[in-house]
Amino acid sequence: MIRMSDEKKNSETLYSFKCPSCESGTIDIIRSVYDLRDGDKMLILKFECDNCTFHKNDIIPLTTNINPGVMTLEVSTEEDLKSKIYRSPTGKLEIPELELNVEPGPRAEFYYTNVEGILYRFESAVSIYHKNLQNGDPEIPDIEEILNNLSKALEGKFEFTLKITDSEGGSYIIPTDKSKYKFKKLDIKESE
Ligand SMILES: [Zn+2]
Repeated sequence: MIRMSDEKKNSETLYSFKCPSCESGTIDIIRSVYDLRDGDKMLILKFECDNCTFHKNDIIPLTTNINPGVMTLEVSTEEDLKSKIYRSPTGKLEIPELELNVEPGPRAEFYYTNVEGILYRFESAVSIYHKNLQNGDPEIPDIEEILNNLSKALEGKFEFTLKITDSEGGSYIIPTDKSKYKFKKLDIKESE
């Protein structure tokens, strides 16, 4: 529980983007760090529209790694699909088995969702692409295989690896099963 008496510090506005609800307001993502009485720290991400009632809060224990690095999550069950994902604009998100690639970018194209949410967004994008292909297009078999694997993945019946590479830090994965999560610190000097 966060109480009013807990000390709050380092409040900063991380990013701003257009409100998906009213489509005219601006949402600021405000990041604050709270020191709790028992010595723990919590990070709070607050999403708030300046025009409508859209808002959302997320509380992240600071044991979660938010440093620059490569985080990977092995997904093989339905439970794994509930792992929370935040891809910051500096993070690159990949699912090699499904040929999914989200390049870093400052636009509103960041993801704050869970694994299932990423699969749904991707499925809808690939479906639209599929519908627009001409009959006999050589890409069709590949696209249909991806769609097939995606629907299996949404039932937890297709194993894949979700990888986020973030050179600035800020992206995170909160796994439902910690044993399937790995974090590797990025050290630019070490690159081969
Ligand atoms: Zn709004």
